[in-house]
Amino acid sequence: MIWGGYALGFGFLLLALALFLWWRSGVLADQAGLPGGRILYSDTGSAWMTNDEAFYDPHLRLVGKPDYLVEETDGSIVPVEIKAGRAPTEPYESHLYQLAAYCWLVEREYGIRPSHGIIQYKDRAFAVDYTDELREDLLDLLTEMREDMFEPELDRDHNDWNRCAHCGVASACTQRLG
Ligand code: SF4
Repeated sequence: MIWGGYALGFGFLLLALALFLWWRSGVLADQAGLPGGRILYSDTGSAWMTNDEAFYDPHLRLVGKPDYLVEETDGSIVPVEIKAGRAPTEPYESHLYQLAAYCWLVEREYGIRPSHGIIQYKDRAFAVDYTDELREDLLDLLTEMREDMFEPELDRDHNDWNRCAHCGVASACTQRLG
């Protein structure tokens, strides 16, 4: 499969964490429970600052650029990820990890741990608590990715045709469904 190939010859983990779940669905599926996110009803959008800066953690070799940053009254910075599609019942797991990675990077950059992040879908926004559990799950996932990136080939670990249909690397993947 394609992972060993494109990955990660580049030296760090690109924060296309949306790809995470295409790759590793189910591995953490029975985890302690990701936060589902609570719906935001307030018009927080007016206070959002666009962000053009990519944040980088050389230790984790993790880079990412939240779409927006919101400064809270306590000085903490809340990352916001914008998704073009309509909101699911709860945020997708891949989106949760992407947001968790942004929380990690924002904390590293500003020195204050955000209590939550925000996923803004087309029609609804979710606030997702940046819990210790979510943080640990993120670190486990990054460790797992790092270990697997040296494998010449990895087997697909899901049977989700829909996932392959929407996968950004399907054209190069020898294990795609359909
Ligand atoms: S096409 Fe399917 S199997 Fe291949 S990387 Fe994408 S989601 Fe995984």
